[in-house]
Amino acid sequence: MDRFVIRKKQSDNLERNNSAKTNPSPFDKHVTDKNVSFSVAPSTSCDEISTTGSDSEKSKPSAAPEKSNCNKNKNNSASTTSDKQDIAAIISDELAHKNEPIKQIKLSIYPKNNQGRMFRSEWYSTFPWLEYSPTLDSAFCYVCRLYAVYTKELAFVKTGYNNWKHACDKTKSGFHKHESSSTHIEAVAFMNEQKTRRELNVSVETLVNDSVLEKRRYYVKSIIEVVQFLVVNELALRGNYNLDEHVEQGLFENLFEFTIRKYEKLAEICNSSVIPKNATYKSPEIQNEIIQIMTEAIQEDVANEVNTSDVPLFTLLEDGTKDKNRRENVATALRYVKDKHVYESILSIESTEKLDAETFTNVTLETLERKNVKPENMLSQCYDGASVMSGSDGGVQALIQKKLKKIIPYVHCFNHKLHLVVVKTAETW
Ligand SMILES: [Zn+2]
Repeated sequence: MDRFVIRKKQSDNLERNNSAKTNPSPFDKHVTDKNVSFSVAPSTSCDEISTTGSDSEKSKPSAAPEKSNCNKNKNNSASTTSDKQDIAAIISDELAHKNEPIKQIKLSIYPKNNQGRMFRSEWYSTFPWLEYSPTLDSAFCYVCRLYAVYTKELAFVKTGYNNWKHACDKTKSGFHKHESSSTHIEAVAFMNEQKTRRELNVSVETLVNDSVLEKRRYYVKSIIEVVQFLVVNELALRGNYNLDEHVEQGLFENLFEFTIRKYEKLAEICNSSVIPKNATYKSPEIQNEIIQIMTEAIQEDVANEVNTSDVPLFTLLEDGTKDKNRRENVATALRYVKDKHVYESILSIESTEKLDAETFTNVTLETLERKNVKPENMLSQCYDGASVMSGSDGGVQALIQKKLKKIIPYVHCFNHKLHLVVVKTAETW
């Protein structure tokens, strides 16, 4: 708890130097040995040191009691497991993690030891690997702490170094000696190698993926556009299968071939290995899937539009037609007014083998529910005059009113009426 309080006080008094983040330029210091290079972002000058701490805090270095304990343990190399865990937690909290830029924390004032000596910010520019933990009042080596594979070094890696008297002494154990140690040099080499490998891997991987991805997307988009053109113009996609050559010669294939001839980029992609030969994305299944996706997108749009507050009510339109398999295809459409304009949109086409009113009613209500269209907003119903739809007792219009427990007037479709008039008139001539 005390340690937390101390840390809090010091964090108020320190300004973390994030220059490595804002200025990730190559390091300005090179430790050359076996072609190894290591550099860090230049530290700011002492003039830039923050003085946000209060006077009382400045005059009373808050970490002194705590650090003396830590350092005592560290110097004796007899720290308990609990102390080690505490130190590790503080390091993790205050200093950089792997793959993060170095944090060279600067305080406006550093605590003095018994000899009146203290850490100095200027050391950062001389030793770009140097880190300082305010809570532990100790120095660490960024490189050895994070990249040393195996090391017996404790001070700069595990426990912290705080022998400020000999810190810059070239003949004694200090920063210079650590920097020239084999442990440090190997750690620097390992770090630079990892960094290079990581950057290379990332860039090549991203480049390949993005490029391939972009080409595949272009190819699939071209297929979708051909399908869209044919569907919108109500043209059959397939149908002309050449039995002799075993190839499909429908409009889809022909139009796609035409598109390849017209667009160089598409031709290049088709002739490259970007699209695997066993995955052409042009099979009838894929074509149907594309049409289905388009259908669902349009149906969702229609449902969303009808569900807005601008459209309080709608009229249900429905009609069916038999296909060659004697299945009834029931088209459900909605007629509504929005922004003073009348819209009629098909919501869905469902197939059914039964042709009774109960089946049609269930299909209709299930469709509305599935598309999230509220049946309570149904103002009227509009069908042809067939008794299965218009019957006042057992017709679809009557069953829907019963099921929804609401009066929803039935209107005999004017278009159907007109059609009947024209047919009858033509018959009499
Ligand atoms: Zn080191």
